[in-house]
Amino acid sequence: MRCGIDVGGTKIEIAILADNGAFLCRERTNTPDNYKELLDTIKKSVDNSAKSTGYFGPVGICMPGSVSKHTGLIQGANTTYLNGQNFQKDLQATLNRSVRLSNDANCFALSEAIEGSGKGYTVVFGVIIGTGCGGGIVANEQLITGANSIAGEWGHTPLPWPVENEFDNHDCWCGKTGCLETFISGSALMKDYEQIAGIKKDGQEIVVASENGDIVAEAVLQAVEDRIARGLAMIINILDPDIIVLGGGLSNINRFYKNIPGKLHGYVFSDNISTKLTKPKYGDSSGVRGAALLFK
Ligand SMILES: [Zn+2]
Repeated sequence: MRCGIDVGGTKIEIAILADNGAFLCRERTNTPDNYKELLDTIKKSVDNSAKSTGYFGPVGICMPGSVSKHTGLIQGANTTYLNGQNFQKDLQATLNRSVRLSNDANCFALSEAIEGSGKGYTVVFGVIIGTGCGGGIVANEQLITGANSIAGEWGHTPLPWPVENEFDNHDCWCGKTGCLETFISGSALMKDYEQIAGIKKDGQEIVVASENGDIVAEAVLQAVEDRIARGLAMIINILDPDIIVLGGGLSNINRFYKNIPGKLHGYVFSDNISTKLTKPKYGDSSGVRGAALLFK
């Protein structure tokens, strides 16, 4: 058995999984608004799951932000009260169990590489394109975290091969300008559409509009496909993964899997591209699944 907990901005999900990946127990609670209550809520969930399954082993946590290798403290979490906390140490003391932490993109990559669409491939690049744009790398079923705990974090590198209209108005929340995340995310797609069409539509609505002949919708989708292709081409040129698995809200856009591979040829430094681009096997449950695999 394995235990994974996904600490999200609004919900905390805990799951106990069998060795074959089947759920034995799964529970969701609301995320409290302070750190002390968060620790108490996780303890209660872990105790409940132990009662129902008899599992008393280590616990993997999927969480926002990252753990500083230098201080052990959480940084860059959008659940802001976590920032500056030694979450791993505090959880281990509260639960009296071993605890490992990783961020959502890493947990997604791990889950897809070991049990999902990337199973059987040597190097897997897992991408989350949702409100933001994150990534994680798994090689030979091992998560690569890197010397600075930022391996795979492609969202805050500049958009490669920019064209004229891509230089302005792309200030990123991280303090830099021109980050991939300001081009490749659900929010960026919505912003692009709203700027030209003057009305708000979400990703799926933009897809439907394009299918019904909306030329603005079609143009912004083609633009984002080319930008994703450029971003992924940069990853292929450096890491050369066997497979790229897309996750997050925008991974539900089916046309990406047809259109993006063809666009890679313009940017990848090779005449032959055998890297696969695929949908995830597990969507929303990749957080708990990947967290549980941190102790595999
Ligand atoms: Zn940035």
